[in-house]
Formats: sequence, structure tokens, C-alpha cells
Amino acid sequence: MSRVVLTAELLAQLRTELLAHCDETCAVLFGRAVLRDGRLIRLVVRDVQWPKPEDYLIRTGIAAQLRPEFVAGVAQRARRSGESLVFVHSHPFDFNKFSPIDDTGEAALAEFFAGRTPGTIHAAMLITPDATLARRLGTTEALAVVGVGSYLAWGSQGITLPGQPFFERQERVFGILGQQRLRNLRRHWNRRLGAAGAPRNRQLPAHRPGCG
Ligand SMILES: [Zn+2]
Repeated sequence: MSRVVLTAELLAQLRTELLAHCDETCAVLFGRAVLRDGRLIRLVVRDVQWPKPEDYLIRTGIAAQLRPEFVAGVAQRARRSGESLVFVHSHPFDFNKFSPIDDTGEAALAEFFAGRTPGTIHAAMLITPDATLARRLGTTEALAVVGVGSYLAWGSQGITLPGQPFFERQERVFGILGQQRLRNLRRHWNRRLGAAGAPRNRQLPAHRPGCG
């Protein structure tokens, strides 16, 4: 499966920021698509833009839509830089899949971007209390979400473990620290996941039961 790759810190920040609100919340990621033989291998995220409250046209507990002006702004940047975009939104409830409303909104976005940034691959990401999912914008082609960086992170596929492609690069980065340090990091992450894994529904913001 092709991947959306971002730093573990950004992935954690995205989940925290977006799930801190009872209303659906959005972010836009900027990155580069890596292709092999014309096929998407990974989309590497390098930057994020957080919409301000006034950038939303609609924002409720079950819907969020960014203003056309905001979308035009990120489209302009993508057109200039050739960057790929990832439109991220939250479901602040346990609905762990893209909704029919998401499908409709993305189809319109995909059509718009096909005109503005022809040939550039864009994606959509969904963050719920239980899951982080992604797909190519306007399609049902799923993308795995992988966090890499100074510690290991989960995406929709669980923990990224040594031996997976991105860990090899991480090993080089951490070469001086040696394998023991990597094992420590892994243990560290397992503890974090233990704290933020299955029981994390109960650790989400206390006001959540009042949402909606
Ligand atoms: Zn949605």
C-alpha cells in the first residue's frame, strides 16, 4: 500500500489538535509525492497549515467545510511549488471511515485540483479517536499513514517497527546511538502506545461526552 509519511511529532500533534474540538476540524499538509514507474510510493509531508476559525464556511460536530478562499490559497501554493496536499479532517466521534459527505466534498476538490495542479497527486486524511486513515483525494485508494522520526508512531497500520523501509533511514540517522538506543526508543514508544492505545478513548478530552 502507498503511504503518507510524516514525522511522528506532526502525526501526534495533528491527532491532538484535531481531536481537541467537539466540532470537526481541518488541517492541510504540504508534501512531495514519490513515484516509481508512475506509481505512488509515498507522499512525504513537510509542512502544515492550520485553518483559523474564520477559514471555515461550515463547522459543526458532523461537518466541516473550508472557505473557497482558503482552498484557493493552498491551491495557489501547490500550483507554484508543485507540492502535494493532504486535506485532513476529524470525526470527533467513532465513525472510522470516510462518509458519503466526505466522498462528495472530495470529488469536488479533486476536480478543482485536477484543473489547478494537473498531474499532482493529492490526498485526504481522516482522524478519529480510534483511527488515522488516508486515501488519494477523490478516490477509494487507501494510503497507509506512517509516522517516523525521533520516536515510533502508529498510523492506520499499527506501530512502525525496525525492518520496515523507513526505519532503515531512521537507523542511519540514529546510527551513532546504536541498536540499544533504538530498542529503548521502541520500548519507550510501546509504553506511549500503551498509554494512548486501546484505552485512549477514555483519555480523550473530558468534555467529549458533551459533544453534540
Ligand atoms: Zn468526514
